[in-house]
Amino acid sequence: MTESTIRIGVVLPEVLGTYGDGGNAVVLQKRLEWRGISSEVVSIGLGQPVPSDLDIYLLGGGEDAAQGLATENLRANPGLQQAAGRGATVLAICAGMQILGEWYTDASGNHVAGLGVLDARTFPQGKRSTGELVSTPLVPGLTDLLTGFENHGGATELGPDARPLGRVLHGDGNAVGDPLSDGAVQGGIFGTYMHGPALARNPQFADFLIMRASGLDSLQPLDLPTVDKLRGERLDAAGISIGAE
Ligand code: GLN
Repeated sequence: MTESTIRIGVVLPEVLGTYGDGGNAVVLQKRLEWRGISSEVVSIGLGQPVPSDLDIYLLGGGEDAAQGLATENLRANPGLQQAAGRGATVLAICAGMQILGEWYTDASGNHVAGLGVLDARTFPQGKRSTGELVSTPLVPGLTDLLTGFENHGGATELGPDARPLGRVLHGDGNAVGDPLSDGAVQGGIFGTYMHGPALARNPQFADFLIMRASGLDSLQPLDLPTVDKLRGERLDAAGISIGAE
């Protein structure tokens, strides 16, 4: 393994893996491999110390009970908070994003202190948002529409230190405000309600995370017709033509 190996942490897949978000690690690893860049996926299990020196951290979604367990574990093993503090790249999906916030209240009314690295608060929206989620990215460097599948009961409100990842075109995203927005960006943290695994259908976002984590300012383009097809199909399912990009 060389010094330039990109180390990708999959955080608590036993409890934050319900929605297939672990596939994002496979997407990142393949996109690196196809460019001849070595990578290592580090799976961080319940009760294990969280390394603070990884390049990219991936947190997925989870049901409320699993989410509570994940929050407790990450509070007891604070490597992720240290990594976020030094600006490491973090992709946090749904429950993962909620956990990084100041607090969240789950569907049963349990009020849980989050890790406090993201200026966001989550509360029950009184319904469940499920279906295709599409947004226009609001982050410099991202131009392609963002597409994923949302499935959550929480609504997430951002404070002044966080800004949304995208402006919602279809679906609910953070489910507060008008216009609706999705996700939260603060330092190296990128939170979103897009499951999928979302990076499979958002190649530009995947490469954006790789570039941020590796310090590379460009990557060799990849010609992947199946990814374009998947992306086109999913945007079509949301009633958005790929030509809108
Ligand atoms: N339990 C959380 C909610 O319903 C997160 C769900 C998820 O990660 N998909 O809002």
